[in-house]
This record gives sequence, C-alpha cells and structure tokens, in this order.
Amino acid sequence: MGIYPPSLKKLIEQFSRLPGIGQKSATRVALFILRSNKELAESLAGSLMEIKEKIKFCSICFNLTDDDPCSICRNENRADGTICVVEGSGEQIALEESGIFKGRYHVLQGALSPLDGIGPEDLKIGQLLKRFDTEEIKEIIIATNPTTEGETTASFLVNLLSGKDSALKITRIALGVPMGGDLKYMDRMTLEHAMKSRISINQ
Ligand SMILES: [Zn+2]
Repeated sequence: MGIYPPSLKKLIEQFSRLPGIGQKSATRVALFILRSNKELAESLAGSLMEIKEKIKFCSICFNLTDDDPCSICRNENRADGTICVVEGSGEQIALEESGIFKGRYHVLQGALSPLDGIGPEDLKIGQLLKRFDTEEIKEIIIATNPTTEGETTASFLVNLLSGKDSALKITRIALGVPMGGDLKYMDRMTLEHAMKSRISINQ
C-alpha cells in the first residue's frame, strides 16, 4: 500500500470497508474515480450526502423513505389488512421488487438475538403492536429469515400476537426458503412460492 499517495490510500481503505468489496475492488474503484472527470466525484459525493440527509425511516412501517409516511403506507389501495413483517430494509425491497405482495410492511430493523444482547425492545416490535390501534389488521405474515435469529423472532411474535385478537390470522412464509438463507438474496420464484404457500400458525 506504500506505493499510493496518502489521500488515495485513504480512499481505498474506505472503499474496502464496504460490504462485498475487498482490497482489489476498492483499489480498482478508487483508481477509476481518480482517472474520471471531476463531475463523477462531485456527483458521487453529492449522492452519498443526499441519502444520509434525505432518507429516513417511515414512522409507521420503518421502511426506508424520502417522505414520511412512505409511499406504501400512504397508498390506500394497499390497506388490505395484511402486514408482512420483515427483518430489514433489504428484505422489504426484495419482496417489493418481486411484486408478489400487495399489502403493507413492517420492518423490524433486526432480529432477536439473545446471545448478542438484542432483545424485543431493540426492534420495532412495540411499534408493530401500536399499529393495531390505528389499522384494521386481519393478517400478519411473518417473513423473518430462516435463520436461528429469524426463527426466534418469529416464535416471539407468534406468542405475542396470538393473545392480541382471536380473529387475527398469523402466517409464516413457507419453505422453499432454505434454512440459513437470506430473503434479500432470493430469486423471485422462491419468494413467490414462500409467500403463496405460507402457513397459518394460529388457526
Ligand atoms: Zn411506511
């Protein structure tokens, strides 16, 4: 690394901290930016600042949005009484991009992980319960990931919601989603199957 000037070295180091970008890719991207015209660097820097300033979490579903509430929560056509609960924004985007789900979402912003000290109060679970006061919710689809943390979160939610309202339907997305898998990297067909063949947990 000693061959690069300090400022370039710093940029490479920063890029290599990004997910999925190793030292080689970071160097390639940094050198590309260095060779490109100044406009590219300016627009990149501008976009980076813009997402930090503009993008926030929807105060209803905790999905990423420019406007609060987000366009999905504002869309009356999507108020069908179904809420799909996912762990993070990546999962919400994957499901939304697949186009298979037309209801509303709730993004927990994580999963329960007692070993890492992540409890219910660290997730948007209380906020999910609050939605029952203002929305007519008929079904909760639990679409947490098929991992230990995702399953723990799903069981916790089932217990919590079962006592809420006997008419509430609680479903869990079906298999087809491999254990240990991650929803945000699943293809549309797998997601569609998982959603369509979801199983009822409490009825
Ligand atoms: Zn929203």
